Amino acid sequence: MPIYEYACDDCGHEFELLVLGSRTPACKECGSEALTKKLSLPRVHSEASRQRGLSAARKRDQKLGTDRMQERVEYESNHD
Ligand SMILES: [Zn+2]
Repeated sequence: MPIYEYACDDCGHEFELLVLGSRTPACKECGSEALTKKLSLPRVHSEASRQRGLSAARKRDQKLGTDRMQERVEYESNHD
């Protein structure tokens, strides 16, 4: 099950939360739902694992770019 780390935008409290379904989490301190989701990965502190995380993010960005490109091609072929 995914455990996410959140930071509250209102009071700055940081906490980890096990997310079940699509329920909106709330700050345990002030109850605010203005939260910034941080990490969903296990806590790792080595530089090597940080680099792996970066390259994974880069791959994800490239995939997003490809999807956007395909969307545009579909749009153009549908509006010819
Ligand atoms: Zn809070």
